[in-house]
Amino acid sequence: MRIVRNFVNGEYVEPINAPSYDVYDPGKGSIIARVSPATRDEVNQAVDGSLEAQQKWARVPVTDRIKVLFKLENIMQEEMDEIAKVTTVEHGKTLRESKGDIVRAIQNIEAASGATYHSMGRSNRNISEEIDEELIRVPLGVFAVISPFNFPVMIPFWFVPYALALGNGVVIKPSEKTPMSIEMIMGMLKKAGIPDGLVQLVNGGRETVEYLVENSKVAGVSFVGSTGVAKMIYRNGTANGKRVQAGASAKNYVLVMPDADIENNVGNMTGSFFGNAGERCLAGSVLVVFRENHDRVLKSFSKATEDLKVGYGLEEGTDIGPLIRKGHLMKVKNHIDEAEKDGAKVILDGRKYRNEKYPEGFYLGPTIMDGVEIDANVNREEIFGPVASVITVNDFDQAIEVINGSKFGNASTIYTRSGHYAREYVQRVNAGNIGINIGVAAPVAYYPFGGRKESFFGDLHPQGGEDHILFFTDSKVVISRWTK
Ligand code: NAD
Repeated sequence: MRIVRNFVNGEYVEPINAPSYDVYDPGKGSIIARVSPATRDEVNQAVDGSLEAQQKWARVPVTDRIKVLFKLENIMQEEMDEIAKVTTVEHGKTLRESKGDIVRAIQNIEAASGATYHSMGRSNRNISEEIDEELIRVPLGVFAVISPFNFPVMIPFWFVPYALALGNGVVIKPSEKTPMSIEMIMGMLKKAGIPDGLVQLVNGGRETVEYLVENSKVAGVSFVGSTGVAKMIYRNGTANGKRVQAGASAKNYVLVMPDADIENNVGNMTGSFFGNAGERCLAGSVLVVFRENHDRVLKSFSKATEDLKVGYGLEEGTDIGPLIRKGHLMKVKNHIDEAEKDGAKVILDGRKYRNEKYPEGFYLGPTIMDGVEIDANVNREEIFGPVASVITVNDFDQAIEVINGSKFGNASTIYTRSGHYAREYVQRVNAGNIGINIGVAAPVAYYPFGGRKESFFGDLHPQGGEDHILFFTDSKVVISRWTK
């Protein structure tokens, strides 16, 4: 069985420990590789190697650092089809979605290339008699990047290009469920001319993360994953004196106003709920409608959903791939069973879906449940599957109350033709990313990726914008006097 390799000091290396995690092809339900948890020594060596490379890298002019990133962009562009195949096999998402994952990663390289402008400092001449004062932004050292399974390429790239452009080193710890796309990309970093050691890859799960978070030479941690883990990493990382940004779980509400243009937006809506099999932190999860437009919206939404094709990600025409693991599939099915018992009406039942060609695959068809109660578990917890819960409200104020009643605050969308209600929505909804007639409110790389309440811990968000400059650099103030 193939063992996923680490990448340390410019070389692929076999791990020391015996493997303890399985990597699946979820579309076939078969094991394709295994992952060994890196030992504390392996993690410490990776951090030491990155720090050594970073000391030299920090002295490379920022304009030259960016040139290396451009080379990486070109290589990833050329290799996109090959990377996408690996992502689809290890994750299950469709080839088109895998390419989207890589395109979004590349956009972050482009956004990071503005580092020369964005990291400029500021100064005052003669702030006091014959005294000049200057603020410069300096790199911090080595950052740990710990990513989830659902976007194996894009999410590490929410951080890596910025950390590098600004003069830092990085140790990546990908999800043990989808480690193979990033394993492949490590060789491309070397080919692009990124110095050996500067970006390291260590594999594993909880233990490996703990070694990174406890390592005193790690200056900061960029984490994305579920809320329980994000909270713990934020707590432990900051207690160990590190800066931490931690993206977490989500429950995203989609409000369809009576004046919404449903015909032109229904494809956008189904894409939000069922794209990436609902395993997206920006996926629509709860469809909020008014009594007056309930039947109209559901008719159109159900019909468009019935047309979606569930299947193997590499097969042409597939819209929805499998879920990541059998255990997760069972969990999502249990949520549907429980909601049904609580009185919800399953108007489209994905539990009935069978894949004749790959009967062992972890498939669930798109599911729509009407009449979900506000207090139901299915409305309270993240489901992370192709499931839409429908909640009916009387008016806009009640809709806002339902949406803001969630403990999460990642994204939220309104479909409307009214500028007034769109503005009110932006003002009143407590979520980090707001869509107006956009089902997946994913900011492009030049903007920070928002998140509030139990969906984000920290203050500086992932991706581009000012947040990444502040997260990956520190300020240093120089006060000088020159006399004759
Ligand atoms: P996860 O929390 O299980 O794993 C995330 C990372 O943490 C992995 O690298 C994993 O190895 C590590 N990890 C897992 N358990 C750990 C523990 N006990 N201690 C230390 N490290 C641990 O998340 P997942 O299932 O891979 O990803 C899905 C979750 O990520 C969903 O909740 C989703 O909403 C969230 N997510 C959030 C965003 C965002 O931007 N807010 C983006 C993508 C995914």
